[in-house]
Amino acid sequence: MLACTRCGLHATRTQAVPGTGPCPADVMVVGEAPGFNEDVQGQPFVGAAGKLLDKLLERIGLGRDTVYITNVLKCRPPQNRDPMPNEAEACLPYLRAQYRLIQPKAVLILGRHALERMLPGMGSISHVHGQIFMRSGVAFMPVYHPAAALHNGSLVRDLEQDFDRVRGYLDEVLKPPEPEPEPFAEPAPEPTSEQLSLLN
Ligand code: URA
Repeated sequence: MLACTRCGLHATRTQAVPGTGPCPADVMVVGEAPGFNEDVQGQPFVGAAGKLLDKLLERIGLGRDTVYITNVLKCRPPQNRDPMPNEAEACLPYLRAQYRLIQPKAVLILGRHALERMLPGMGSISHVHGQIFMRSGVAFMPVYHPAAALHNGSLVRDLEQDFDRVRGYLDEVLKPPEPEPEPFAEPAPEPTSEQLSLLN
């Protein structure tokens, strides 16, 4: 990874930001690209957008250390400009390899750039945010990028609702299976006439 020079961003970054979190993990979070703070610290989502992401994760009972967090691009674009198609293409094999290793049950797609790469052709984030798209048994949910909500406060409520939906989905897929009945279990005894009369 550190030796990657495929798209040219290595020349202007401080360091690569591959991602953080356990592997495997039930939840994988994919953002756009490292920004200033991430480039300095080598960790994803450690600036203002990261603080909001932490709050949203906490809201649904997920500590940052329990989810795998990464970005489409692993190197900061100069001046935080949007990722260019060739840069995203160059990084995709790395993201695919991460996905295979992490084996998530749910993937949170933060913002339109990650959406374009992970669910191409889905349309605009404002139309699909909060919906769950199943791909080979894994739930992909696009949500607004937390940085967008820092600029437009009205998106915070959307983000909260969408994260709540993720919680609902996880509760459903992670709930333990119903216990199976014991083989050769004794049938419950018939109530006696005395017990029945107590019910009247
Ligand atoms: N925005 C992103 O998309 N990723 C980060 O890591 C930080 C801000």
